[in-house]
Amino acid sequence: MNEYEQALWNIRVSKPANKLNAEIIALQELVERATPKKIVYSEIHDFNICPNCGGNVYHHQHTNNCGDCGQTLDWSDK
Ligand SMILES: [Zn+2]
Repeated sequence: MNEYEQALWNIRVSKPANKLNAEIIALQELVERATPKKIVYSEIHDFNICPNCGGNVYHHQHTNNCGDCGQTLDWSDK
C-alpha cells in the first residue's frame, strides 16, 4: 500500500460504510489511477493493453500513463 492508498484508507475507516460519499469515491478513483498497474500483454494481438480501460498501449511508446484513461502503468516485467 503506498502513502496515498494509506491516506485514503485512513479516511475510509474513520467513517461508517453508509457515509462513504461521492468525494471519497472520486478520490479512490484518482488513487487507483495513480497507483501503477501491470501492463497486460496480448499475444493474440501483439500489443499491450491498459489494465484499467482495456485501451491499446504500444510498445514503442512505453508511456508511464495510458493515453486513454490516465492509468499509471507498470512495465517492470518487460
Ligand atoms: Zn487506460
